[in-house]
Amino acid sequence: MKPGWYLGGAALAGLCAYTLGAQAQGRMWDPAILRRGPAAGRPRIALTFDDGPHPLLTAATLDILRSAACPAAFFCIGERALRHPELVRRARDDGHLVGNHTLSHRHAWLLTPGATHHEIVGGATALRGVLDQPIAWLRPPWGAFNAATYVAARKAQQRIALWSVAAPDWAPGARAESILAAVLARAHPGAIIDLHDGGRDEAASAEMVAALPALVAGLRARGYDLVRMDQLGAGEGAAPF
Ligand SMILES: [Zn+2]
Repeated sequence: MKPGWYLGGAALAGLCAYTLGAQAQGRMWDPAILRRGPAAGRPRIALTFDDGPHPLLTAATLDILRSAACPAAFFCIGERALRHPELVRRARDDGHLVGNHTLSHRHAWLLTPGATHHEIVGGATALRGVLDQPIAWLRPPWGAFNAATYVAARKAQQRIALWSVAAPDWAPGARAESILAAVLARAHPGAIIDLHDGGRDEAASAEMVAALPALVAGLRARGYDLVRMDQLGAGEGAAPF
């Protein structure tokens, strides 16, 4: 084999370790990453909302949660938080958890270590500036990891949280009825449910908002307590605190 082939092979192996290896660690076996709460005890579920704040959809989501007295978590995009800081502060003041969804929502597989650091630490810095308090949690966009994600999260002093139920509220053509049916069908004790209050497809996020009152009521009717993600208790992954 020519030397160039060895070099090319080594580069490809390194790239695979940087992306796919890190992805497998994050999605499958890293015990430090929160994916769900405990299944035992009184059944609890945590709602989480990604991709906001959005001036209309986040405000509507907060209105619904307030009238239902339902706590949740909002994983905000730093650049959007800087554009709508009042919504981030309102989420916090309403008793919700505010987490980091990076500075501009780029896919980790496309980021160098330096850009990964910029996205994660930059998002944390933006939110800390808006709220004047530390931000304890990170949710990587699309749940995508590279090897630098772990280092940057540690540097930002953030724990990583994923989800155990993905709502189909991000895809074009999503309808409130199908979002509601899918989440109720997949709900389980200790679930962390991933919803989108400001997804790229605004119509789909609007369908989520339309489904939200029935979603909260439906989960409660099935016996679930709706709690903040950091109050689920110890589950898969280490205890939240
Ligand atoms: Zn996202």
